[in-house]
Amino acid sequence: MTAKISDEILKRLEAEGKKGKLDPKFLEFYQRLLRAQSSFEQRIALRKPGLSNKAASERLERGLPLVSFDELALDWSLLLEAFNEVTAAFTDFPELFGEIPQGLREVSKATLIKEAVKTWFEEAKLPDAMVGNEINKHLLEAIIHATLRPFLTSQAKALLGLVKQEHWRRRYCPICGGSSDFAFLDKEIGARWLLCSRCDTEWLFQRLECPYCGNQDQNTLAYFIDDKGLYRLYVCEQCHTYIKAIDLRRAESDVLLTLERMLTLDIDKQGQEKGYQPGPAR
Ligand SMILES: [Zn+2]
Ligand SMILES: [Zn+2]
Repeated sequence: MTAKISDEILKRLEAEGKKGKLDPKFLEFYQRLLRAQSSFEQRIALRKPGLSNKAASERLERGLPLVSFDELALDWSLLLEAFNEVTAAFTDFPELFGEIPQGLREVSKATLIKEAVKTWFEEAKLPDAMVGNEINKHLLEAIIHATLRPFLTSQAKALLGLVKQEHWRRRYCPICGGSSDFAFLDKEIGARWLLCSRCDTEWLFQRLECPYCGNQDQNTLAYFIDDKGLYRLYVCEQCHTYIKAIDLRRAESDVLLTLERMLTLDIDKQGQEKGYQPGPAR
């Protein structure tokens, strides 16, 4: 996210807040998080891709994302700083997240942080034993996700040019291997693209396939459309998950996809009321 885009997101968030579309406390928290992430992103040195075009193509053809954990080459002191700042943001909003347990804050002190970040990156979840109970585990996952975000988005920017869209079309991100949490239909022909939940990379995907379990049976795939025909809720009867999407052919103004996933929390609610769950992280 460049400084300009993050300013634009903050401006639009402000406007949405005035319309009462977002819970004021959530809005305040999200603004703080965005500011922190954007300032860290600007401090992360942009690297040249360490892969040639040919090496990247070979990897993608084998279904391997372009960055492994070691290749991320994280700057641990900067990451630790980001972790502390993100944790502070979560801590200051107990009405949204509950009290942050001391044990969780202490993750930053030990070598535990490296282990936690690596496990989260490779498996998209943390082992139960790491922080005690389910609630703390999900909270720490959310904090690590938010902490790593600027590191992953800047990495993605450097590598995006190496992704040949027509050769990928898999259920996970071609750059970081993450799963998608939002989709869009493009303006040109309404092709469906997925957005990575971790690094915001966009990749082309089948219109009729569940992005979580790979189900392609049309009888067990469906979607709901909102009144304006702008948003869709794709559901899968095989794995009982949903994914939200925006149809850019119907969008009147420029759409910021990162923001859309936050502005459509009411669609998440609808999905869950219909008995579906968000797709699992991977
Ligand atoms: Zn990704
Ligand atoms: Zn499915």
